[in-house]
Amino acid sequence: MIVEDEPSLVFTLKDTLEAENYKVSVITDGAKAIEAVQNNEPDLMILDLMLPNVSGYDICRDIRDLKFTFPIIMLTARDQEIDKVTGLNIGADDYITKPFGVKELLARITARLRRANAYSKSGPVEILKLGEVKIDLREAKVSKPGDIEEELSTREVEIVEFLLRNANKPISRDELLEKVWRYEYSTNTRTVDVHISKLRAKIEMNPDDPKYLVTLHGVGYMLRLN
Ligand code: CA
Repeated sequence: MIVEDEPSLVFTLKDTLEAENYKVSVITDGAKAIEAVQNNEPDLMILDLMLPNVSGYDICRDIRDLKFTFPIIMLTARDQEIDKVTGLNIGADDYITKPFGVKELLARITARLRRANAYSKSGPVEILKLGEVKIDLREAKVSKPGDIEEELSTREVEIVEFLLRNANKPISRDELLEKVWRYEYSTNTRTVDVHISKLRAKIEMNPDDPKYLVTLHGVGYMLRLN
């Protein structure tokens, strides 16, 4: 799905993507993007930052608030590069600065789709199954065998969602601080470790020997699926 109001760019993108056998839908009015996503969830969105009526930031945030996890590549103009951090923090997976080469965009699309397909999905992920453990992301609840239920904090849900979007990819503590904590005051990598440890106790059958939320020594953490 392309959300972009600039006709010449829409034309070029659509043409290029269709030549690569992607099925493309185009939304030119930002106010209609969320409805379009709810009607027909895309595998990936190319989202322009500057749109009439609603900004790309707001659309991106709304999509993530609705628990859709498909990758979002944000388009920004050269002088908006300062917004990169904001864009990634509100749930975009990547950004590309205009003007960009079509080959570069195609490469990024391929990379994002490959990563997203590391776990299968149809619709927004609400229930994540880790072996016998079920994580309901919408209800923020974990069910374990033996009728054990755990509540997840909003932060823990955010951690799971972020790791899920990056499943099977090593994530550093700094990256978690940036993407989940958004560099809040008085947080540090120790904060990350404490939260991961608590989360692990809730979602792993044997937290001392985790199978899914694993530590990669000297690197950080990873959600290991399959
Ligand atoms: Ca625009």
